This record gives sequence, C-alpha cells and structure tokens, in this order.
Amino acid sequence: MDKNIPYKIYLTEDELPKAWYNVRADMKTKPAPLLNPGTGKPMTLEELSGVFCTELAKQELDNDTAFIPIPDEILDFYKMYRPAPLVRAYFLEKALGTPAKIYYKFEGNNTSGSHKLNSAIAQAYYAKKQGLKGVTTETGAGQWGTALSMACAYFDLDCKVYMVKVSYEQKPFRREVMRTYGANVTPSPSDTTKVGRDILEKFPGTTGSLGCAISEAVEAAVTSEGYRYVLGSVLSQVLLHQSVIGLETMTACDKYGIKPDVIIGCAGGGSNLGGLIAPFIGRKLRGEADYQFIAVEPASCPSLTRGKYAYDFCDTGMVCPLAKMYTLGSGFIPSPNHAGGLRYHGMSSVLSELYDEGLIEARSAEQTSVFEAATQFARIEGTLPAPESSHAIKVAIDEALKCKETGEEKTILFGLTGTGYFDMVAYQKFNDGEMSDYIPTDEELAKSIATLPNI
Ligand SMILES: *Cc1c(COP(=O)(O)O)cnc(C)c1O
Repeated sequence: MDKNIPYKIYLTEDELPKAWYNVRADMKTKPAPLLNPGTGKPMTLEELSGVFCTELAKQELDNDTAFIPIPDEILDFYKMYRPAPLVRAYFLEKALGTPAKIYYKFEGNNTSGSHKLNSAIAQAYYAKKQGLKGVTTETGAGQWGTALSMACAYFDLDCKVYMVKVSYEQKPFRREVMRTYGANVTPSPSDTTKVGRDILEKFPGTTGSLGCAISEAVEAAVTSEGYRYVLGSVLSQVLLHQSVIGLETMTACDKYGIKPDVIIGCAGGGSNLGGLIAPFIGRKLRGEADYQFIAVEPASCPSLTRGKYAYDFCDTGMVCPLAKMYTLGSGFIPSPNHAGGLRYHGMSSVLSELYDEGLIEARSAEQTSVFEAATQFARIEGTLPAPESSHAIKVAIDEALKCKETGEEKTILFGLTGTGYFDMVAYQKFNDGEMSDYIPTDEELAKSIATLPNI
C-alpha cells in the first residue's frame, strides 16, 4: 500500500480504523533490528517464528509497510468497545484555572480495564489462525494477562500466564479475573521451568520481576508443541496494534478541529504512548505538522531519562533476542512501585530511536506526586485512573499550570490508559500516608547498566 495515502481511506463507516499504521515506514533511521543472542546477527523470520506466531514475526520485521489491514475478525471484536472516547476535561481545566484545553483518550472502557486488549486480541487471532493450541505470556501488575485471557477465551485458545509473584500475592482479584476467563496462572519465578528454578536457586525468596517472568513464559512456549509466546508491550508489533488509539484520536481531532500542541503518555514498555503518537509522529516525520511529545516514566524505573541506549536482553534469563533500547540493564529490579505496568527495565526500540533523535521528550515522576494527581483527577473528572495512567495526568496538569502562568492557550492531549479499580491497595497506601518515593541512586543504576552485553 502507498504510504502517502492519508489514513482516512482506511476508516469504517463508524470511524474505526481498518488498518494499523506502522510508524517505522516513515522513520528515516529505522529502529535497530533484534539480534540473535547466540550469533549476534539480526533475527530472521524463521528464527522469530520459533518463538512468535509467524504473522506477528512478519509484522515485527516489517519496517516498510505503512498501513497493515486489520483482519475482519479483529475489527468485529474492536467494535465491542471501540472507538474509545476522546474526552475534553472541562472540569479539570476549570479547577486548574488554566487557559489550556485538555483532552484525554480513554482506554479503560473494557473489562480488562486498559489499552492492552487492542494487541491481545490481535495476537490471539494470529495464533488461532496458525492453528496453535495456545499461547504463553508473563504479566506484571496483571493488566496484560487479563487482556490476553479475555482474547484467548474469545478465540478458544489455551492461555498460560506467568505472573510476577509479588503481584500474584498482592492482586488476587486480577488473578481471579484471568482464571474466570479460563487462563492458567502460575506465580513467577516458579519451579515449572528451568530458568525459574535457576533464578530461585540464585535468589531464594525473590518476589520476581517482569524480566524473569518473560524468561519463564518463553521457555514454556518453545518447549511445548503448538504454543507460541506473546508479549504485551515493547515489541514493534504491539506498537503497531496500539496505533488504533492514535488513529481514532487523529480522526476525532481532525473532525472537530482540535489541534493538539502537546501529546503526553505514560511509558512502561512504550506501547500505549507509541500507539497514541504514531500517526502524529508520522505527520511530524513527513514535515506536515509539529507537536511536542512527552513520555512519562516513574522515577523509580527511569529507562529513558537515566538509562543507556544500547543492546540489551529483554529478559532476566537472557533467552530472548537482544533489542537496542534505552535500558537500565536486564538485571534491574525496581523498588516495589505501585505502577506495576511501568516497571520494565527497557523501552520499545521504536520509541528509543525517536527519543534518541530528539523527536520525543521524556520526564520522570515520583510516586506520591503521581497519586496526588490521580486523586485530584478522580475527584474532579470522575474517572478513577490506573496508577500507570496517572503519570500522564501528572504531567498534563503540570503543563496546564504552566499555561496558566504564561497565558498560553495550548491544547494538551494525554492518554488515559486504564482504570484503577484493581489498584486499591496502592490507593490505600497513599491514603494512609504510607507511600514512599524510592529513587535508585546513580551507583545502583551504574551497577546494573555495567552488566549490559558488550555489542
Ligand atoms: C501496561 C500498562 C501501561 C504501560 O504499558 P505501555 O506498554 O508502556 O503502554 C500503562 N497503563 C496501563 C493501564 C497499563 O496496563
């Protein structure tokens, strides 16, 4: 397909995108390729297909096709909860006394409660189409596992979830939602995989990490016939699927004459932010418009703002391909921050490249200030936000208050990625004044960054 054709021809009658937009097609410098950890050479389609569904492996490697049609079965599923609302935060604007206009794109309108379902349903579809029995994955806070279990139930696929142990214990409700949708949930590290047993031996009593759960899920996939591994963030295929967020937002903005100046999103592995900004970045890359983009990450896990742009392992067990990204080192285990979805040590290679080129900015936010913003937003705008999403709220409020000082009438747009109903232990800590703001020291970061592979 011609990449210069405007996105509008890919809309259904009810203004749902019929194709995903692949921002890599418009990037002059492409994100660095995934490398085989054994040979150090770029991963081939054949190698990737051993771990991922073949069609998803193709999407992972495709740096050139701008629009990739969304299969009808996925579009039908999207119709159950999309288009997602683009909301003007009138009450927040008024409460802040800002001349800025504030909009947010709300992705919490589905049972899984976040944007993750947009990619989960796509990945489950391709697994089903390939005739697989099931998929394996990891989940941290549980949003991805929940979304994937919904998607697998819809396509009648087996779903094995390795859930970071601390969340498995602290978030019994997420775990039970997954089981209700038919998923098999194992706390990680576990003794069901070799890598899990090794980690347990080396770090007895560990409460686990995302990187470790990924290693377990990958091992479970490659050692079981008819299974593949799926991942809820970081990968370029996930950013591709999440472009529905940005395409819908752009459609609504164009229709109602909204011209965002600043676009803000929280960044864990980078998928919601990458999806929200994709078509806007496309316009910026093609010289058609300009926007300020801000990625917001927790001060406790600052991969963009304090990490290094280098090849690293995507997982603690070092079984996954190497990705070039802003990273804190695959051994980095962040302090127990309550924004579980933002605790990954690295960042999408697409966003890493855009950040390295200065096309997007990054800021970090401390936990208590994030929960202050979350509480303010809940009271003023009604929606109880996820702790992850509240990082974007915090910076949106900061930007709106800056406009109050300068008198600038900017249009601020942010991604409200999900609801916080399953995060009430975190809210409880905040309400009881027991929340801390642990920020890693330079020495701690240097120590984990020093373990990056030498490439
Ligand atoms: C997972 C998650 C995030 C962070 O993941 P990204 O891949 O960076 O988008 C943000 N918000 C919510 C609600 C999540 O579940």
